[in-house]
Amino acid sequence: MKLFSSIKNEGCTIIIGCGRLGANLASTLSDSGGSTIIIDKNPDAFRKLSPSYGGIVLTGDATEMSVLESAEIEKAAAVISVTNNDNTNIMVAQLAKEMYNIERVIARLLDPECEYVYREFDIDTICPAVLSAKEIDKLLGVSVAEV
Ligand code: AMP
Repeated sequence: MKLFSSIKNEGCTIIIGCGRLGANLASTLSDSGGSTIIIDKNPDAFRKLSPSYGGIVLTGDATEMSVLESAEIEKAAAVISVTNNDNTNIMVAQLAKEMYNIERVIARLLDPECEYVYREFDIDTICPAVLSAKEIDKLLGVSVAEV
């Protein structure tokens, strides 16, 4: 992993939030050759990255524009906001889309009822609660059919 001072963001994927989802995503993208910058306000969170992670880590609160600009967000190929806070994800996604003109913006949605906010701004969302429910339903369907 590289230090913050060495940032040269040319077509990077910026991931906000290095929880289990963000760390997994960053490690997967990095291992498959993509260039990534991962931002988290808690420096201990970066321990979740795989040892082979070759991207950049940046400690800071992503709701502060100075932090996003340190990551050179305006040059990003994609911004993915997967913190554990819907308001943060909405704010970062909106900034990326409206202010920095990033085309590929994806946000994690904790409360499915907030989806309409993203739809209004044409932001793609991933909602783990809904995906899990669908997957469980699918598994139940399969097992019922098999009985
Ligand atoms: P998890 O709860 O495992 O999904 O992790 C979510 C991650 O998002 C945690 O590591 C938090 O520190 C991080 N996080 C939450 N809010 C912010 C923020 N405003 N800026 C950067 N990282 C954040």
